[in-house]
Amino acid sequence: MSDRPFFSNLRCRECGRLYPKEAIHICEFDFGPLEAAYDYDAIRSSMTRQAVEARPRSMWRYRELLPVDGAPTVGAQVGFTPLVRASNLAARLGVADLFIKNDTVNYPTLSFKDRVVSVALTRARELGFDVVACASTGNLANSVAANAASAKLKSYVLIPADLEQGKVLGSLVYGTQVVGIHGPYDQVNRLCSEIAQKYHVGFVNVNLRPYYAEGSKTMGFEIMEQLGWRIPRHTVVCMASGSLLTKIHKAYSEFIKIGLVEEVPYSIHGAQAHGCCPISTAMKRGSDIVKPVAEPKTIVKSLAIGTPADGYYAIHSMRQTEGVAEDCTDEEVLEGIRLLASTEGIFAETAGGVTVACAKKLIDSGRIPRNESIVLCITGHGLKTQEAIVGNCGEPQLISPSLREFDSRFGEELGAVKK
Ligand SMILES: *Cc1c(COP(=O)(O)O)cnc(C)c1O
Ligand SMILES: [Zn+2]
Repeated sequence: MSDRPFFSNLRCRECGRLYPKEAIHICEFDFGPLEAAYDYDAIRSSMTRQAVEARPRSMWRYRELLPVDGAPTVGAQVGFTPLVRASNLAARLGVADLFIKNDTVNYPTLSFKDRVVSVALTRARELGFDVVACASTGNLANSVAANAASAKLKSYVLIPADLEQGKVLGSLVYGTQVVGIHGPYDQVNRLCSEIAQKYHVGFVNVNLRPYYAEGSKTMGFEIMEQLGWRIPRHTVVCMASGSLLTKIHKAYSEFIKIGLVEEVPYSIHGAQAHGCCPISTAMKRGSDIVKPVAEPKTIVKSLAIGTPADGYYAIHSMRQTEGVAEDCTDEEVLEGIRLLASTEGIFAETAGGVTVACAKKLIDSGRIPRNESIVLCITGHGLKTQEAIVGNCGEPQLISPSLREFDSRFGEELGAVKK
């Protein structure tokens, strides 16, 4: 790396004013969100395809485009999850060219949130924080708890009290302080803003949000590299705050800007669950005003954010790329989970069910043409949201340990492969 810093400033998304690279997230003049700004000319010469390909297989191979000063000190192994060609699912959906970006196996906590936390906690250390925290719908809490434990940082994770057991246990086990709030995510988030004003704590998605958010770009970077350095025609992304979708858009445009991929038409589509779909509702109305959902009602708790911080920007990313938004019922979510599992052997959490179900609707209605390339972003593992699907996949066949009993149950269907 050269001695010119690649990551130069924070910049307001609204007015463009520059800010120093500190633990701040809002513009003082217009309350616009601050975002990392880079020196793309310096990056262009440092970050060639060859240079990247020679680096370790983690999200940090794109380090010039991440908002930290030094080497990663938290989560150096995160990312570079499989991009799977999904021929079986493609056949079922009636499309030609389909891939799954499989973040159900992201290291170490089995969701894409390890990407954002790796960046946020590396930056938290650079800024001198000893205590880190987050407001979470579950996966972020898991990742902050795990990564803080290994980085020897003290952590607090604040979550709605009614989350799935897998998500709660998946934070408690690391020895973090888990704080369950009686109320929906929006109230958890508001409390976190108040705490962040009072204490010197690095809240990954509050005062460290500009750093956190950039970690999501690596999902987009990996998709392009794994496709052989090209942008897929369609990308389907599930939305909570809308940040991941916005950052995949930023990732695609940055690779175009520094010449790593060719500029081609592409569309990014957003997916939500019917019981909490403020962003897709605004998109369908043709508006960019996101009306809050006061009481989310869906099994998809990881996406249940009633007042999405980046909803406005997600809408702009979809519009700019001629993408669309869709939502689906809880019943369709379960069908989506089973469809992905039974065709590709990938067990996704409820958010993944949303992505699959909404992609199916976009394909069936012709909004995604059947002959164009499609990537589905599958963001978290199904073992963490078991109560959503338990009882919906049948039950085991119970028999005694007896060959006769096995024969009477399965002998007929196995007849064809008899010795
Ligand atoms: C957090 C999360 C998302 C998307 O979150 P954004 O706030 O939109 O960036 C998607 N899937 C899962 C499983 C998540 O935990
Ligand atoms: Zn501003």
